[in-house]
Amino acid sequence: MNIEIKLTEEPKLKPSDENNLGFGTIFTDHMFIMEYNGDRGWENARIEKFHDILVSPAANVFHYGQEIFEGMKAYKNNGEVFIFRPDMNAKRANNSLERLCMPKIKEEDFVEAVKKFVEVEKDWVPKSNGTTLYLRPFVIGLDPKLGVHPSSHYYFIIIASPSGAYYAKGMSPVSIWVEDEYVRAVRGGVGFTKTGGNYAASMAGQEKAEAHGCEQTLWLDGVERKYIEEVGSMNICFKIDGKVVTPMLNGSILPGVTRDSIITLCKDFGYEVEERRVSLEELIVAAENGKLEECFGTGTACVVSPVGKLINKDRTMVIGNGGIGPLSQKLYDTLTGIQYNMIEDKHGWRIKVC
Ligand SMILES: *Cc1c(COP(=O)(O)O)cnc(C)c1O
Repeated sequence: MNIEIKLTEEPKLKPSDENNLGFGTIFTDHMFIMEYNGDRGWENARIEKFHDILVSPAANVFHYGQEIFEGMKAYKNNGEVFIFRPDMNAKRANNSLERLCMPKIKEEDFVEAVKKFVEVEKDWVPKSNGTTLYLRPFVIGLDPKLGVHPSSHYYFIIIASPSGAYYAKGMSPVSIWVEDEYVRAVRGGVGFTKTGGNYAASMAGQEKAEAHGCEQTLWLDGVERKYIEEVGSMNICFKIDGKVVTPMLNGSILPGVTRDSIITLCKDFGYEVEERRVSLEELIVAAENGKLEECFGTGTACVVSPVGKLINKDRTMVIGNGGIGPLSQKLYDTLTGIQYNMIEDKHGWRIKVC
């Protein structure tokens, strides 16, 4: 793929305090953009100044939500910049695109776009411990037509945001609200895709969780509301009686890159890993018997997020002793060690950009 690079003549001041970057509010100097024009396919790939885009108010994305996105990070250590398993994001983007009747992007083009863009913005990758350059690739449908049809014009854009350490104040266990009224997704729907509508549907549950003093929502299956699915933007994993157990990919949960990596690492560590249906009832019984040893969320943003409590209606399940479990800590240290080029990467997950 030919990517034209037009560097800005007005570079912005980079944030001086890497301890206060927060998440997703500061954007870099440039963006990657390419267009899909009907029969001509994807074209005009370029990296140019970060700018607002002019889109018709009738554009499909605003009315019918033809939109998919990805979430990735670039990591800096010793002046070198790395990304993590970009091929997995490219594949998942294509699964999302296909489900939403949007045109696919060649895997190697997706990865090349991410790499080139990160290389151009390498000075924007923060270097303090735990900080990253968060990358947000996304595709939107542009046709200005109110009939419900797939668009024939799209943008594929990548923007980037220097982000603070997720655990700026140290890793600490979160409380999670088990939501049994609202659901996030159903099998046959779009739960396995990273599409905006899933997040719009989740906000009411998230507000409920916060009203109950919890940081996040744990979703149950959309049919029986009996089986564990996942958390807002994380997959969920349990250690029950010595075994690692996580809900299987069933079409309604998002196949996380972190989830996949964690399963591999747990097997490397010698754990038996079960991907299967996990009922809320099973967790309640395991907690009562003192066998619910660990629970943690997994996702690109947090890497591993230990869960101290699961709260469902009036019932509170305390996980282990409510602190950070040893497996959660070991997985976090190993995965971040690989991402930041601090330990051996025997699975070939880490890709050096520059
Ligand atoms: C992005 C996301 C995840 C985590 O996926 P990763 O590839 O590990 O970042 C999990 N669940 C939902 C709903 C997500 O949007």
